[in-house]
Amino acid sequence: MTTHSIVDRLHSGEMLLLDGGTGSELQRRGADVLKDADDQVMAWSATANIEYADVVRQVHSDYLRVGADIIISNNFWTTPTRLERIGERDNWRKYATAAIGNAVQARDAMRPDAYVAGGIAAPTLQEGLTPGQQPASDTQHLGVEAHRKEWADHAKLLADEGADVILAEFIAFIEDAVVAVDACAEAGLPVLLGVREIRRDGTMRFGESLADLARALEGYPVDVVMLMCSNPESISVGLPILREAFDGTVGAYANLGYNPTAPLANKRSSKSKEPGESADIIRNTEYYPSRMAEFAGVWKDMGAQIIGGCCASGPEHIAAMQPVVKGG
Ligand SMILES: [Zn+2]
Repeated sequence: MTTHSIVDRLHSGEMLLLDGGTGSELQRRGADVLKDADDQVMAWSATANIEYADVVRQVHSDYLRVGADIIISNNFWTTPTRLERIGERDNWRKYATAAIGNAVQARDAMRPDAYVAGGIAAPTLQEGLTPGQQPASDTQHLGVEAHRKEWADHAKLLADEGADVILAEFIAFIEDAVVAVDACAEAGLPVLLGVREIRRDGTMRFGESLADLARALEGYPVDVVMLMCSNPESISVGLPILREAFDGTVGAYANLGYNPTAPLANKRSSKSKEPGESADIIRNTEYYPSRMAEFAGVWKDMGAQIIGGCCASGPEHIAAMQPVVKGG
């Protein structure tokens, strides 16, 4: 399909509804997203793209059914760096191809005019380079060339397999954002950026400012910047700062409270610093669907043009947000 028009549609002021969480929804439906996890997730839901392909496609279909204009392929951590953690580094293309295929197949069957965003996540959690050290960017962890190549190769594969846009998401550091969008743009598709875990004061995960992010991105090929995987109130603080500083389209998709390793609560190793207390995957009942519809209205008024959900949101949340996002 001819999809570069997504940029034209956004430039004309149109609102687009994004899907909700996929990994958390897979887990809620019984798919194993925790292969080889102990205290931490490893490659998270990457392997589910093959082992639970039908569930992945059903989640995509359900988001399309409630009106999502954009679904994000389940490529979150089908990355070489993350799959290395379960001994599958050399198979990353197999999982990445399955993930984008599941999304394209669901889209073609359910709603051919919707967009598939090939969604790739930052490859590390930016822990210190050695235990106890300050958090380090992906660029520091991998080196700029290897980091760049990880994004570029993945984006190229997703473009070749039918993605309409590339979404570089779960980014925490400004320098990583610059590398990611520049590398992803090599695939020749529009590039969307998702910045993760905005703090209550509207700063980025490790304290950098969204205004500095916008300045750093000047001249780089990024069409949309979205605040993601953050709690809804933090997005409401950060969004006006981003809107003021960034010339392109802005958007938002919030984390409603997700505890991915909850099923391992009773199996954790003693080295865990934060042992889970609860086996509940969804941690928060505060952000029920109609509450998220209210947030959607607030973010729309703040200038967000792409709005959806991240972890712990499901089709019921997107259904509730739909009339607010798409209504006049
Ligand atoms: Zn999330």
